[in-house]
Amino acid sequence: MKKHNFYAGPSILSPYTIKKTAEAVIDFADMGLSILEISHRSKQFQAVVDEAVDLTKELLNIPEGYHVLFLGGGASLQFCMVPFNLLNKKAAYLNTGTWATNAIKEAKIFGEVDVVASSEDTKFNYIPKNFVIPTDADYFHYTSNNTIYGTEIRRDLDSPIPMVCDMSSDIFSREFDCSKYDCIYAGAQKNLAPSGVTIVIIKEDALGKVHREIPTMLDYRTHIKKGSMFNTPPVLPIYSALMTLRYYKEQGGVKEMERRDVEKAAILYDEIDRNKLFRGTVAEEDRSIMNVCFVMNPDYAELEKDFMEFATSKGMVGIKGHRSVGGFRASLYNALPKESVEALVAVMKEFEAKH
Ligand SMILES: *Cc1c(COP(=O)(O)O)cnc(C)c1O
Repeated sequence: MKKHNFYAGPSILSPYTIKKTAEAVIDFADMGLSILEISHRSKQFQAVVDEAVDLTKELLNIPEGYHVLFLGGGASLQFCMVPFNLLNKKAAYLNTGTWATNAIKEAKIFGEVDVVASSEDTKFNYIPKNFVIPTDADYFHYTSNNTIYGTEIRRDLDSPIPMVCDMSSDIFSREFDCSKYDCIYAGAQKNLAPSGVTIVIIKEDALGKVHREIPTMLDYRTHIKKGSMFNTPPVLPIYSALMTLRYYKEQGGVKEMERRDVEKAAILYDEIDRNKLFRGTVAEEDRSIMNVCFVMNPDYAELEKDFMEFATSKGMVGIKGHRSVGGFRASLYNALPKESVEALVAVMKEFEAKH
């Protein structure tokens, strides 16, 4: 039976990425060797990193003065690297979920943290509005897409100070104005590659302003100077990332990804709103197009387990909501075809007809 992969992360990758990665595991760049067993300093792998950097800059419209890095440690390491490198005295953070909370915790180790707003009081089911970003903070940090709760900020916020953004689960799903940010980071395992690599986009001028000493591996300047090759980088995930980047370019770039993502999300939200058995969990204007969270309507609450079993029997994979939210979550990342969303909607309709 065909499986429809709605996992939140690690998550679905394009068939092109999977096929090309599998081929390189057997024979990389006609070297007669697997990519798993060659030096990261070989000219063949250097070409991979160079192209991945160039394509990221091209697809995301990254201006002069920014560096693109491929680092280990996951997005979670960036929660600490960002303040280590950028927080002198005070930083402003928007708290919209678990990941933002984790980022705030790390920043507090390095200085004063002004949490400008939080939606924790209602289990992060909306994005706070009308908060004030202090002008005397070093940067303003936010999470563009809240993977666990299914809320998203789909535009560049207006900020009087440079922004830092965790775009782990929606990078490459919309165009943005990079010049408004000092730093953007994203763990690869949601919209780009297998886990193990994190994309960091960092502004040259933002660095060198803190007074503390920074351990070599945690200093962005180390990785800039060495082109993400200070130590052994995550070779295979970087190769897969390049394959996805080529695929995105060939498919029409970020604009086309966004068009498809918006269309897919609308198909599913329309069904959630129409179907008497289900309801969405977050404020409509803040709905994520990447992670769609929904629950049974209260009148049908006892059907939750049945629906999960029914959907699973029809090939739906990974729709269980995060353990902290419950219900269901369907992740509709770039690589998920529209047919999978339509298949899920058909299952929801069929289940409704039975009840
Ligand atoms: C998944 C995720 C993280 C954590 O990423 P790791 O690579 O596992 O550290 C951080 N932020 C967001 C928004 C995420 O979706």
